[in-house]
Amino acid sequence: MSITSNLQHIRTTIPANVKLVCVSKFHSADAVLQAYNAGERIFGESRVQEFLKKRVLLPQDIQWHFIGHLQTNKVKFIVPFVNLIHTVDSEKLLTEINKEAAKTGKIIDCLLEVHIAQETSKYGFLPNELIEFLAAKIWAEMKNIRICGLMSMATFTDDTAQICNEMHTLKQLFDRVKNEFFADCQYFTELSMGMTYDYKIAITQGSTIVRIGSAIFGERV
Ligand SMILES: *Cc1c(COP(=O)(O)O)cnc(C)c1O
Repeated sequence: MSITSNLQHIRTTIPANVKLVCVSKFHSADAVLQAYNAGERIFGESRVQEFLKKRVLLPQDIQWHFIGHLQTNKVKFIVPFVNLIHTVDSEKLLTEINKEAAKTGKIIDCLLEVHIAQETSKYGFLPNELIEFLAAKIWAEMKNIRICGLMSMATFTDDTAQICNEMHTLKQLFDRVKNEFFADCQYFTELSMGMTYDYKIAITQGSTIVRIGSAIFGERV
């Protein structure tokens, strides 16, 4: 199956109000261009060096989302080029993004990453840490970032009931956070959840952004 036909199929499974991030990590600029020519404009990368190399080869109107674990010392390299950072998992990282964004006069849209999966290796705020972090309101003083929602990865399992439960928990957390901290905020709207193996469940659970790689580009090599 070609990238174009993969996308044609996937597009039929995603409602118009859900954004598709084409996850192009480990795939070539040429592969990105094929998806671009099929009409896609939002691409996701998870490694800083790979992202920087690829973006210079590609059209300017691509919206780049950063979806990998981000180290504070690499923030400055991506801030000029990124549209949305999905993976803010600490106050330290958010502070650094704000600082670098201020230098370039940009306002960077960010999602807070929440840890809901069972695997211990995944990053993100635990739900209670997230509430504590938001309640402290330090983020509210940061003028060059906007917190636009939450992001998470469910456990990698074929137990769909478990995935469904985790995503439901995340949606409830999203609703709570929106009510408690962002009730008057126009832009706290995004819930980034769902990948190739679980995006259809994610959509039923209220996802607004799905991040799909392998189903578009094939297995990563
Ligand atoms: C790689 C990756 C994806 C895409 O995974 P696929 O299974 O290839 O769809 C989505 N989200 C994150 C955070 C990723 O690292």
